[in-house]
Amino acid sequence: MCFFREKKGKSGRSFQPSWYTRFRWLEYSAAKDAAFCFPCRLFASSSSYARGGGVPRDTPDEAYISKGFNSWKKALEKKKGFPKHEETFCHRHAVEAYRKFMQEKPLPQQVDEHHDRVMTAKQVAVVRNRTTVGHLFSLVRLLARLNLPFRGHDEGWNLATGVFSAR
Ligand SMILES: [Zn+2]
Repeated sequence: MCFFREKKGKSGRSFQPSWYTRFRWLEYSAAKDAAFCFPCRLFASSSSYARGGGVPRDTPDEAYISKGFNSWKKALEKKKGFPKHEETFCHRHAVEAYRKFMQEKPLPQQVDEHHDRVMTAKQVAVVRNRTTVGHLFSLVRLLARLNLPFRGHDEGWNLATGVFSAR
């Protein structure tokens, strides 16, 4: 969460809300008086590097993930501040992962669709079972009405000898 409340650092500088416009990934913690990177906090993990080609090209930038960046004086410096973080492999990878995540269907919708598929398969089974049981009841009624046994006189292993065939 990014709640801004101006705090002056030791250098007399503070986080500038205008930075949000230029660096859309930026988030600010008033409690820690530090800046973080939203995509990196969510998607920069060692496992995500493995998918990117096996060997991590650089490690997650902890300053923007857990420690927080608060060198406000250097914030806009190309080789030390936000621009530097933007150029790191881990950041670009995290931003791409975040973009893909946002393009996917929302999780509740995925769960609903999965639920629908499961229900459909279940409903098919229920209908099939009801149909089979319905046929069996019809057969039993017919045999009862005609006063016929289920099986013939031969009680051997051949199931096809009676009126009721197991086929
Ligand atoms: Zn980042």
